[in-house]
Amino acid sequence: MNSIESRFTESPRRLSVLDHADVLVLGGGSGGVGAAIAAARNGARTILVERFGAFGGTWTSGLLSSIMPFPYVKGLFQEILNEVAASGGWRRSETEDPYAPGPNGSPGAPGHGGIYDAEVMKRVLDRMVVEAGVKPYFFLQVAGAFRDGNRIEAIIVESKEGRHVLTADYFIDASGDGDIAHHAGVPTEYGRTEDGQVQPMTLIFKMEGVDDARAEAHCRSDPRLAETWQRAKLAGDVTIPRENVLLSRSPVPGQWAFNTTRIHGKNGTRVREVTEAMIEGRRQAFEVAAFMRSYVDGFEKARVSETAGHIGVRESRRILGDYTLTSDDIIHAGSFDDAIARGNWYVDIHSPTGQGTTTVGPPDGKFYEIPFRSLRPRGVDNLLIASRCIDSTHEAHAAVRITPQVVAIGQAAGTAAALCHGAALCNIRDLDTARLRETLRSQGAYV
Ligand SMILES: Cc1cc2nc3c(=O)[nH]c(=O)nc-3n(C[C@H](O)[C@H](O)[C@H](O)COP(=O)(O)OP(=O)(O)OC[C@H]3O[C@@H](n4cnc5c(N)ncnc54)[C@H](O)[C@@H]3O)c2cc1C
Repeated sequence: MNSIESRFTESPRRLSVLDHADVLVLGGGSGGVGAAIAAARNGARTILVERFGAFGGTWTSGLLSSIMPFPYVKGLFQEILNEVAASGGWRRSETEDPYAPGPNGSPGAPGHGGIYDAEVMKRVLDRMVVEAGVKPYFFLQVAGAFRDGNRIEAIIVESKEGRHVLTADYFIDASGDGDIAHHAGVPTEYGRTEDGQVQPMTLIFKMEGVDDARAEAHCRSDPRLAETWQRAKLAGDVTIPRENVLLSRSPVPGQWAFNTTRIHGKNGTRVREVTEAMIEGRRQAFEVAAFMRSYVDGFEKARVSETAGHIGVRESRRILGDYTLTSDDIIHAGSFDDAIARGNWYVDIHSPTGQGTTTVGPPDGKFYEIPFRSLRPRGVDNLLIASRCIDSTHEAHAAVRITPQVVAIGQAAGTAAALCHGAALCNIRDLDTARLRETLRSQGAYV
């Protein structure tokens, strides 16, 4: 420690206990909302802690806007989407082909992807969280964990009021980055095997004032938009390391969302690097907007109406658990006796270093399963992961991470924690996974 650092030590002080829960969920993104609603509906006194002022995480603070087709996810995710649609905040994708009917035992119509309105999503999630009986806290950020042997006793949180602890019998880490697991000393991995690089970040933004009909004609006549983008690159009007423009038309007339900025080499868990990424992301957003105005029909009078409050982090820590899901499991439609969710989204890797996107997945009409073991962090008895950062390789993570599947993972983690609490189990590993699967099935999940 150098002399300046040694001047700033904090004296030991007693921290006030802000609250206690049977199940505490950290992070109100798609995984955390799924986990908290499921835990509360299954009888646990549940607290949901979020650092921003809205639930949804990447869905809302990240302005994500699009949801992929989800033929193998139902349950809580379908409920959320039904609510968003009923409130006028959903526009089903017109370009995608209808998906094949679900596999044996999967009732109902296949799930079609589409675009949602992030403001409607925020309101729906507020309502569903409160109606489930969850006690929410906004504006709390986790800063540490107290661990006694294999149990987490409390997490340290910081707010405008200062530093407190929150205690709970079971904890669910849905922070995306695995912050509780990290503070509790659970082993983690980062990046791909060959060079430790992760997928790039993207700052999503919206443009308003678009002439939808003319924009549709230009953007949907493949490969016209891609060619226009390449022309602008050759002219030096675009510097972004992406091969094409990823954009979607919102349910709000004249509004389009862009998943087109690309920022490499930044770590989503380091505050300085996230700051740099936000600044570069906004620079790129305005560059894309200028391109759209100059080159693309229908955008001549459009303006940037909103940039996301937090940059989209596709990948950061991955938490080591009792089973590491691999690309083989994804591509060969792996099945598990403790499966708690299904998915068919492919290994979708936006190049960590340059242009291009890798896409390889299970055969058409097949799905892979996600085992409960991958949600159980090593060496801790009362913690579950309900986020993109479950135990998986860089490649498998790139498939598992999409929001329908993350909600399904969250629903499983919340249900599991509530069942553990109801049965007064000391260790989540003692939970009967057949009972967990049966409960999930009875509550609408495809398991
Ligand atoms: C640019 C981009 C585009 C994507 N495109 C799609 C797509 O089109 N369709 C799709 O389905 N998926 C897409 N994904 C993937 C998907 O959005 C994410 O994998 C998914 O949202 C992860 O959900 P999560 O709940 O694990 O994390 P998040 O959505 O990140 O939620 C984590 C929550 O925890 C909170 N939090 C984090 N740390 C703390 C802390 N220390 N204290 C308190 N709160 C904390 C955050 O504020 C946030 O609300 C995309 C992702 C990105 C980044």
